[in-house]
Amino acid sequence: MRRIVVVGGSLAGVSALEELRARGFDGELVLVGAERHLPYTRPPLSKEALTGEVRHGPLALRESGWYDDHHVTLRLGHAATGLDSRERVVVLDDGTTVGYDGLVIATGSSPRRSALTSTLVNALELRNLDDAERLVRALRGARHLVVIGAGFIGMEAAATARGLGVEVTVVDVAASPMNRAFGSAVGQWFQRRHQEHGVRVLCSTAVERIEESSHRTLVRLAGGETLAADALLVAVGATATTAWLAGSGLPVGDGILCEPSLATEIPGVVAAGDVARWHNGTFGEPMRIEHWTNAVEQGRHAAATLLGDPRPFTSVPYFWTDQYDAKLRCVGRPSSGDDVEILAESGRTLVAVFGRGGVVSGAVCVNAPRRLAALRQAIAERAPFPDVVAGTLAP
Ligand SMILES: Cc1cc2nc3c(=O)[nH]c(=O)nc-3n(C[C@H](O)[C@H](O)[C@H](O)COP(=O)(O)OP(=O)(O)OC[C@H]3O[C@@H](n4cnc5c(N)ncnc54)[C@H](O)[C@@H]3O)c2cc1C
Repeated sequence: MRRIVVVGGSLAGVSALEELRARGFDGELVLVGAERHLPYTRPPLSKEALTGEVRHGPLALRESGWYDDHHVTLRLGHAATGLDSRERVVVLDDGTTVGYDGLVIATGSSPRRSALTSTLVNALELRNLDDAERLVRALRGARHLVVIGAGFIGMEAAATARGLGVEVTVVDVAASPMNRAFGSAVGQWFQRRHQEHGVRVLCSTAVERIEESSHRTLVRLAGGETLAADALLVAVGATATTAWLAGSGLPVGDGILCEPSLATEIPGVVAAGDVARWHNGTFGEPMRIEHWTNAVEQGRHAAATLLGDPRPFTSVPYFWTDQYDAKLRCVGRPSSGDDVEILAESGRTLVAVFGRGGVVSGAVCVNAPRRLAALRQAIAERAPFPDVVAGTLAP
């Protein structure tokens, strides 16, 4: 293999580049990225980065010299618009092509857009550095931020904006915040924390229509109430960034459909990070994970597969979210339909375990990091849910 091209200049892509060199690949490496910035980390964009001026420097995943040291050719500010796997070329938005012997697809995910909000001029979303800059500008001098979507990013942005003294209302059709991942019990605990900090959380509430004028946005709710916003953030989830692969022959369906090794059906093409859907042997389920740690691990794993070491990628997913002083750490793959048992709860801490099919599927620890390792172990071992609840496995 003489040239490996990585499409997607972010966490999974950089992790793949690093692993390729670490494993001794000494051919050409090309990184194609739609954003003009050097790859950077996203979690601070909904947290501390919103409290001041958003600057790329502290967020950079690697310093600029790293790319020179690793002999990586950068094609930043160029989106890939097509893949011709027969000719083994990636087509870029300026009409040029980049040939490859091996290809890592790491194009991540993009904000989901709804018919209700996609035509709005002033609505903000939060996926990248430029989005965060726009949100910071909008929050400066704003009295009222309305957030549509009570998922992780919406709730984190709500907490951060509240810390800046902005009045915040969050609206979601779901019954509680972060409902898709956790169901009600954990979500309601977080809803109370937000309410204690003065955020208005309107769950089980639909937005009927949105009207914009030059200086404010009117969000009309199904119940008849109208919210007047100086800033509107739409955070209703994300979808895998796969549109550019249309016509490539690569199987796609809520992400790029990968083999357990993260190889795709097309020889010489692997995928990693938010964009990849694969069968996770730990759970015996197909999944696509939108978490930081997964992007690092899969980027490395996909690189190994590409270089001829195609082992199944099995994992116990991990992620965190920080809202006020509540630091949530989650292991496993909980889902809203799972059984849930609260193992410990106070105003500051929460420990919850989830079960699916009689087996522990996930665990959430808020301000209780010491419980995490044993629960993670129980998930990796597919421990019976009743045993974990009874405490015969977890400490
Ligand atoms: C605001 C925010 C806060 C987050 N907070 C947390 C957190 O607290 N904890 C946690 O675990 N996770 C968090 N995440 C999730 C985590 O950041 C992602 O899982 C991670 O960034 C995924 O990395 P990735 O490389 O797979 O994709 P991405 O980071 O999405 O990067 C994909 C890159 O590919 C580029 N691209 C897309 N299409 C093309 C194309 N056609 N051609 C070229 N380039 C393309 C994109 O511009 C982007 O730069 C957060 C995400 C966001 C947005």
